[in-house]
Amino acid sequence: MSARMLFRGGRVVDPSQKLDGVHDVLLVDGKVAQVGRDLAVPEDARVVDCAGLVVTPGLIDVHVHLREPGGEHKETIASGARAAAAGGFTAVACMPNTDPACDNEAVVKYILKKAQEAGYARVLPVGAVTKGRKGAELAELGSMASEGAVAFSDDGSCVFDSILMRRALEYAKGLQKPILQHAEDPGMFKNGQVHEGLLSTRLGLKGIPSACESSVVNRDIELAALTGGRLHLCHLSAAGSLAHVRRAKALGLPVTCEATPHHLLLTDEAVGAYDTRMKVNPPLRAEADRQALLAAVLDGTVDCLATDHAPHHADEKEIEFGLAAFGMVGLETAVPAMLDLLVKPKLITMGRFVELFAANPARVLGLPMGTLKPGTEADITILSLKHSTAVAPEKFQTMGRNTPFQGRRFAGRVERTLVAGHPCYAAGKAPERRPC
Ligand SMILES: [Zn+2]
Repeated sequence: MSARMLFRGGRVVDPSQKLDGVHDVLLVDGKVAQVGRDLAVPEDARVVDCAGLVVTPGLIDVHVHLREPGGEHKETIASGARAAAAGGFTAVACMPNTDPACDNEAVVKYILKKAQEAGYARVLPVGAVTKGRKGAELAELGSMASEGAVAFSDDGSCVFDSILMRRALEYAKGLQKPILQHAEDPGMFKNGQVHEGLLSTRLGLKGIPSACESSVVNRDIELAALTGGRLHLCHLSAAGSLAHVRRAKALGLPVTCEATPHHLLLTDEAVGAYDTRMKVNPPLRAEADRQALLAAVLDGTVDCLATDHAPHHADEKEIEFGLAAFGMVGLETAVPAMLDLLVKPKLITMGRFVELFAANPARVLGLPMGTLKPGTEADITILSLKHSTAVAPEKFQTMGRNTPFQGRRFAGRVERTLVAGHPCYAAGKAPERRPC
């Protein structure tokens, strides 16, 4: 099949080519063939008018939980990949806290096969650092990498043992993969429910202090310096953690980090009277932490925006606060939420937005994505800054309804998502599978 598509007259934003202006994008056989002004229209090309829209490299989420195998009542690889496409993501990295854990090459293969059959966004498996994510013994990182694991993490749990974390960074360095660390001191976390502060006292809930995260961040930066291994810090929530990362970057250490939309938009006040939709780990923190996170996004300390998409069944959320599951869905709200918070008030440029959601995630995972350079796979996201998105969980593609943003309206809308040139999603329509 020699299929040509021309995306005409959109505002193409691609920091990898220093582009932000009106251009055409020509796709041939699922690859980007040409980007330029007023391209000639090949006779057989399908022309898509993009006037007034923003055309970007496909957005990438480095942190999602797709629950399969073992948690298919919450989400499947197919429903998660469909939700990703509907949310503007062309690729998502899925965490290994499944049942069984993704700690060997068989599970890596299984996830890739399911994702291929699903035919929506690309799904990039993250292998566990330790066997069974138990934090005791290193998993077979090498064989998982050979089968397609893009990174390693025990996310959901911290790799807390210092010697193991050191070895993990050393092994992963040899494989040229990052360790994605969920930084949390389990001793300080113990049965914590919300951020330790005024709210935890008022509600009589066990608090999770900021130091639970920042102390591990500090140690891991030391280990990254010691080993030269690539450390990526997941979902940072505490002001102290960001100060450590800023220092590490000033020293030129191989350290990157991500921020979630919910930590950028909400504080622990949102928990109100035990609202389990606001129960998440790391917890929503104080306004000073939120401001520090925002400042870190603006000054370049934060590399990626990531959802930590964590779907749960209603039965796991509509119960007593202390028993409710941690986590929020995010795939179908993240892009408009961040356009609304960051781009609409001109806190960041569209170019920086694309860095945070595409170029930097690709760099962290070491993948040739996040760009519209000719010759690359045509993973493309098309956005409208003129439309808005009302958050309506009943219309989500994800099986999870546990959004903290129900009823909110965000500026910006995902118009189209294309993976390898195949249209997987168009606004107002059901997502479409791409052929295997
Ligand atoms: Zn985590």
